Amino acid sequence: MKDLKKYFETGVTLDVSWRRTQLQALIRMVEENEDALARALHQDLGKTPQEAWLTEIGFVVHEARFVLRHLARWTKKRRVRTPAFLCPASSGVRPMPRGEVLIISPWNYPIQLTLSPLVAALAAGNVVVIKPSEYAPATSEWLARSLPRYLDAQAVEVVQGGPDETSALLKRPFDLIFFTGSAQTARHIARAAAEHLTPTVLELGGKSPCVVAHTQHLRTAARRIAFAKFTNAGQTCVAPDYLLVEPTLKTAFVEHLTQAIVEMFGPENAPVRMARIVNRRHFDRLSALFGHGESVLFGGHRDADALLIAPTLMSVEPSHPVMSEEIFGPLLPILELDSTDPIADALRRISDHPSPLAAYLFSDEAADLRAFDGLLCGGFAHNDALMHLANVHLPFGGVATSGHGASHGFAGFHAFSHWRAELDQSAVVDPDLRYPPYSGRDLRTLKWLM
Ligand code: NAD
Repeated sequence: MKDLKKYFETGVTLDVSWRRTQLQALIRMVEENEDALARALHQDLGKTPQEAWLTEIGFVVHEARFVLRHLARWTKKRRVRTPAFLCPASSGVRPMPRGEVLIISPWNYPIQLTLSPLVAALAAGNVVVIKPSEYAPATSEWLARSLPRYLDAQAVEVVQGGPDETSALLKRPFDLIFFTGSAQTARHIARAAAEHLTPTVLELGGKSPCVVAHTQHLRTAARRIAFAKFTNAGQTCVAPDYLLVEPTLKTAFVEHLTQAIVEMFGPENAPVRMARIVNRRHFDRLSALFGHGESVLFGGHRDADALLIAPTLMSVEPSHPVMSEEIFGPLLPILELDSTDPIADALRRISDHPSPLAAYLFSDEAADLRAFDGLLCGGFAHNDALMHLANVHLPFGGVATSGHGASHGFAGFHAFSHWRAELDQSAVVDPDLRYPPYSGRDLRTLKWLM
């Protein structure tokens, strides 16, 4: 185990040019190894090279370039106003690195969800321990081999392993833990962090609803939903988890959805451009969601040896087991809304679940959009799904059980920084007014100044 903290204390990471060099090296590392990375992602999850580039490799390069472009401005001290009673002082806020931070990442986007927080951590001047997921072993191995070759090896360490290794790691007094994964594991992380009063960013999941009502653009809605749901075989934290559809639209919408799935992923029950389920445990978990009275409208085929589940649309009742936990797989339950006021019904049903990581509304009505203003969710997209996370200008994060804190772009830099408050006072001017004993006149003046 390296002593990263000692290296941090030398002050080398405070230098913005050091941070710039690390980010440039990270971009070079990803670009020079595109093929090796695509192979590792295919080995771990069966991702196609195109999907690997769009959702992982290209995503990280785009984010790192964005951060590099803004680094000089973000790292500057920001001046803020100073109230009259403190004059002639000046005040400002300086972003400082937090110190030694831990990034724990999941298996579903093992490059994006490891390197995107790493970009933010390095930009903010931290030294970083990375714990990738044991369920994406080829990618983890690649990260462990490549990161010390390209980045400052005294500032970045990769620790491989599962819960045991992570539990051992969590005994160390980190200055921030950035965790992406399930709410269940997050509880272990938060408990361990509490021992050292370590702050956390928790990027979790949940049941992200998708509402289709009052729209004439069914084909567009179907294509966007099919892409968001079945990319990476539904193993995406912000994939639409379940569909709430206005009854009069259901038949036509399901037709568009099946057509979109076939166009994007291949024939029904024989998809050819589809990622696989990560392992047997998750395959069995998803298989157990079949056979509870649902009506399968499309797909349903499962191949345990190949760990493949075809994109599946199923009509269900709210009491079906598929509606109890985050699905995290290529099963899309469809529920019919009340036809008299589908939007009010949708909001009522969404509130039956904890606050989700994302919510989606496909509707042509401005009033429907306004009705969603009060919905507490991590992120929201109107007439789209998933794509809010591709906008590096938007913070990405959850609320309540879908997480706390945010990442991406400036939000990531913000999370990995300590915002030091600074007051610079003159030593020459020292009015008696600020010290006791206070006369009635002093107090009147202070009240006026404040
Ligand atoms: P997970 O919680 O099982 O694992 C995440 C990480 O925690 C892994 O590195 C794992 O090794 C470690 N871990 C697992 N059990 C542990 C324990 N008992 N103690 C300490 N460490 C432990 O999550 P997962 O299955 O890899 O990912 C799926 C979940 O992640 C889903 O809920 C999904 O919604 C969520 N997710 C969220 C985001 C986001 O950005 N909000 C992104 C991707 C996935």
